[in-house]
Parts: sequence; C-alpha cells; structure tokens
Amino acid sequence: MPAAAITDPAAAERTNLLGLARPDLEAFIEQLGGKPFRARQLMSWIYKRGVDSFAGMTDLAKQLRARLDTLAEVRAPEILSVRRSADGTCKWLLRADASQAFEMVFIPEPDRGTLCVSSQVGCALDCSFCATAQQGFNRNLCTAEIIGQVWLAERELAREARGARTARAGADPGARPEERQVTNVVLMGMGEPLANFRNVVPALSILLDDFGFDLSRRRVTLSTSGLVPQIYRLAEETNVALAVSLHAPDDALRNELVPINRKHPIAELLDACWHYLDEQNGRSVTFEYVMLDGVNDSPAQARSLAQLLKGHPAKVNLIPFNPFPGTRYRRSPAHQIQRFRDELIRQGVLATVRRPRGDDIDAACGQLAGRVIDRTTVRLGAKVIGVAVHP
Ligand code: SAH
Repeated sequence: MPAAAITDPAAAERTNLLGLARPDLEAFIEQLGGKPFRARQLMSWIYKRGVDSFAGMTDLAKQLRARLDTLAEVRAPEILSVRRSADGTCKWLLRADASQAFEMVFIPEPDRGTLCVSSQVGCALDCSFCATAQQGFNRNLCTAEIIGQVWLAERELAREARGARTARAGADPGARPEERQVTNVVLMGMGEPLANFRNVVPALSILLDDFGFDLSRRRVTLSTSGLVPQIYRLAEETNVALAVSLHAPDDALRNELVPINRKHPIAELLDACWHYLDEQNGRSVTFEYVMLDGVNDSPAQARSLAQLLKGHPAKVNLIPFNPFPGTRYRRSPAHQIQRFRDELIRQGVLATVRRPRGDDIDAACGQLAGRVIDRTTVRLGAKVIGVAVHP
C-alpha cells in the first residue's frame, strides 16, 4: 500500500490521495502524525469541493498541510483532447503514459448525468464485436486513475457551467454550480473491471463513501463480461448495481461473441448473478445484449433468452451495435430490435432499448478504442499543439 512508501520522505514519491479509500487515507494521515478524522476533512475537500491544493484546505493544521505538500498530491489523469457530440455527449481522451491513452464519456440526460469510466487501457477479453478488444491489453488503471476520471469530469463540467454562467450578463463568476453534474457512474468504458479487481474495489468505495462522491449504490453500475469467480468476490466487497454482458442466449454463440464464456458458461454465470443479488439485497441484474444483424437478433433467440431469465430479477438492455472500422458485424435494423424487445416482454422479461449516444464522436458503447498516441505528436516547444491519434 502506498502509505508504507513514505518511510524515507526524501526518496519517496508523492502519494496520490485519489488512490486511497478512507481506511488507507486514515492510515496515511496517521503516519503523518494527524488524527484519523482528518481523512474525512481531506476527502470532503477533494471530492465535494474539487480542491487539489493543500494550501487551500483551511480547516487542516498548517503543519499537516505542509507535510501533505511535500509527501502527497491530488493528481487526476492528464487530458489530451475533448470532443463534444451534437447530442451533448462529451468524450475525453486521457493520458496513460507516453504512448497510450484511455477514454471517459459523459452522457447528459434531463434527469441525470452519467459518466462512463474506463478500468483498463485496452482489454484482454477479445469480445468479437468490441473496438477496445482490437487494441489488445495494455495495462490496468490504478485506483487514482479510475477515481480521477470522476474527479476530473466534475471539475471540467463545473468549469464549463461557470463559463456559461459568466457569459450570461450579471452572473457571479466565482459561484459554484448549483448541483453536481455527475449523478451516475458506470464502469462501462474501456476494459474489464473485474479483471482489475484490486484497483476497482477501492474506487467503488470512494464513489459510495459519504465523504467521497457519496453516490447511492443504485447510481453506480459495474459491467462485466462474466468473470464468475470475481462476481462472487465482488459480492463480499460492495453492493453496487451489476450489469452483465450476455449478448447470446446459448453457449455456442456466446463462446464466439464473448470468449470468456468457454471458461465460465452461461449457467454458471447466471448462478453467480443470482448469488450477487441475494447477498446484496439487490433489485435486479441488467443484462446487456448487443443487437447484431442476423447473428443474435431473431425472435427465436429472444424466446431462448427469455427462458434463461424468466422468473428472475433481471432486466435486458438491448444495445444497437455501434460499428467501428474493420468490424464484420452490422447493426440490427430498428424493426428487428423492436420485435426482439416485444418478444421478451411478451415472455415476461423486462426489456429496454439503449439509445445510442455520442456515436458521431465515436463515444458510443464499444467504440472506445483508446487509440495509441502517435509518436509523431506535433510539438511546439514543450507544449503539445496537436495529438495525432489512430485507431
Ligand atoms: N468489459 C465490460 C465493460 C465494458 S463494455 C463488459 O464487457 O461488460 C460496455 C458494454 O458495451 C458491454 O456490454 C459491451 O459488450 C458493449 N459493447 C462492446 N462493443 C460494443 C459495440 N460495438 N456496440 C455496442 N455495444 C458494445
């Protein structure tokens, strides 16, 4: 754990506080000679007020602030570029290291704002219809990089809101936004969150913590392709909402679309889902089902899917396939998607169709290709003036 690394302050790297869930932050503060409750004050500054400089944390003792200044930092990932869709969806490309990047997407809706967060750079699971799979696996994001996405999005969106207000005559430029913009967080960006369990679980805890982002468990959703043992482990660690990428009603087809199915077939996966709900007193599991023309979208397949889920606390979310360069799949036509949904409902299974958002900026589900930053990045002095990316 990072706190152990401060025995030699001169040599130690600064500890990024965004990576520490409350018990770890308390331990860290104690090592600095502070009382554990200071961790709660610190978290309120960081997560509720978006402050990243210790000097401004006025209710902390000067001495503690000075120690924090030398030993700690609040550092979110660096933004490489931002794109905004005609529908208001916003996608940020964030730096992972000199040659790799990852993405986060904000989806505004009238009654909520959802941030779609990445958990890995690339992905190892090789789902055949997913753009992220094409780049292979690069590395796990650390907790600070995962929670840092939410911290950063809040800050950027608040800054924009302030800008918009000052543009209106008479507005107070210093005023904070009336309300938080990120009301929901989904781990549905790049990567398989349960393959990065160690870093994802503390991030979930900061999202739920009263002194962290203080989100209700129903507003945080982890989506998995079906890593069965980790679903059981997750049930012991957290109670966030669970979404599962099912995509096929039988093992033969799911083996092809979601290869992890060969290791953990559908029956095992569903058992793990029902166990998760039992343990967590959850309402239901959402099953994601990407609609691929002529592959998994027939009414007979809808009936098979219904057989699997009927009588269980399950919802199906049908996702129109989002194409990307080089894919062999096509999106099912709208009427076919409607028919599939109607068949599920007729069979007694709740089903909705996800409206694609941000597809004009490649921000829709499965389009987060991460991109490798071209090494020929154009530079003017030390300042990056244009980041060339390729899929
Ligand atoms: N690895 C996790 C989370 C990331 S993907 C998982 O598999 O659940 C988030 C959702 O987008 C998953 O349901 C995934 O299957 C779906 N998806 C991937 N590629 C897609 C595409 N091209 N079009 C539509 N949905 C896609």
